[in-house]
Amino acid sequence: MFKHMTALPPDPLLGIAAAFKADSNPKKVDLGVGVYKTEDGKTPILTSVQKALQILSNTEDSKSYIQARGNQAFLDGMEKLVLGAGNALLDSGRVESVQCPGGTGSLRIGFELIKRGNPNAKVWVSGPTWANHVAVIKAAGLETAEYPYYDKANNQLKADEMLEALAQLGPNDVVLLHGCCHNPTGEDLTPELWTKISDLAVEKGFLPFIDIAYQGFGVDLETDVAGVRELLSKVPEALIATSCSKNFGLYRERTGLLTSISETSVLAGAALSHMLNIAREIYSMPPSYGGATVGILLADEALTAEWKAELAGMCARMIDLRALLVNKIHERGVEEDFSFINRQKGMFTFLGITPEQVKAIRDEYAIYMAGSSRINIAGVSSSNVDYLADALAAILK
Ligand code: PMP
Repeated sequence: MFKHMTALPPDPLLGIAAAFKADSNPKKVDLGVGVYKTEDGKTPILTSVQKALQILSNTEDSKSYIQARGNQAFLDGMEKLVLGAGNALLDSGRVESVQCPGGTGSLRIGFELIKRGNPNAKVWVSGPTWANHVAVIKAAGLETAEYPYYDKANNQLKADEMLEALAQLGPNDVVLLHGCCHNPTGEDLTPELWTKISDLAVEKGFLPFIDIAYQGFGVDLETDVAGVRELLSKVPEALIATSCSKNFGLYRERTGLLTSISETSVLAGAALSHMLNIAREIYSMPPSYGGATVGILLADEALTAEWKAELAGMCARMIDLRALLVNKIHERGVEEDFSFINRQKGMFTFLGITPEQVKAIRDEYAIYMAGSSRINIAGVSSSNVDYLADALAAILK
């Protein structure tokens, strides 16, 4: 069966992580994989999450299966977090969610659902997008195409070109949008663009599929999804894949949910039955641990307040690091203007340096980033920012 199988090349980003680990340079800096890190380079369990985990381990009395759609407190809490408590959609009967293994699992179930609805659907992704998006869409057997999004040469959105491209689409098309903190560019849609894209979705009939992997990492929990909520208030149908990996720091617990918004409650019931059926065919039931933890946390006012404060702290630190990095680069008399880094949101930014410069900064300074020059802002710290700015200034001269 497997005699003719040859090994695939390693995932480029995981390759960078391995090379970083093997590097013996004491000054090495890891700006690669998208995991939040503290000032001392750690990714600790949030205190609020630790408390919820403690409650879970004190109260869990069975390891029997959980219900197929997942932990109810998790689903209720997360729908409110994404849509906003008091959102009329919550009582409309049009919203159904299923707990899935991480944001990636949620995306996969969503694309499989689209495949069942329309096998000829074409999924449009932003140019560029998170590298795994295209792989997940293709794995579900759907065609992909790219809409213009980011102008790398000028460090800004290609707003007009994007709107022009979306205006050509119709009911066989799906448009994958990043809810906030765009990966890899950090450049988010403006409120005006969310309005225009919402109106185009209604007028042209394409399906918006929103990927929310960083709610609370941009500005705050509400502002980050204001555009998403406006869009959802207008369109008849939408899908949302939400990840708890970053904002709850639950990466390895594979915690996420897929939410479908349908035109009617009858169609919502049909969509739910298919989401459950697809999950049944792939992994049967969702894992319990992460969903149960978030469910406990969001059902408890004090824990929720504590979590929101911790999340706001991570967000503020990344905003401060952006400003610090920009200042340090400019202090060194670098001609290029890096102030766009301050405007961008979340964990990522494209430095906009060439692949040769990315290689040079790795070889000469042991500073590791994705080949595209995407950096994880959380990998910057007050102890490495001068070294980083010196290195950048040197390779840009
Ligand atoms: N979407 C985007 C845009 C992401 O950046 C990520 C994580 N890197 C995911 C989805 C998937 O997250 P998870 O680890 O929860 O599968």
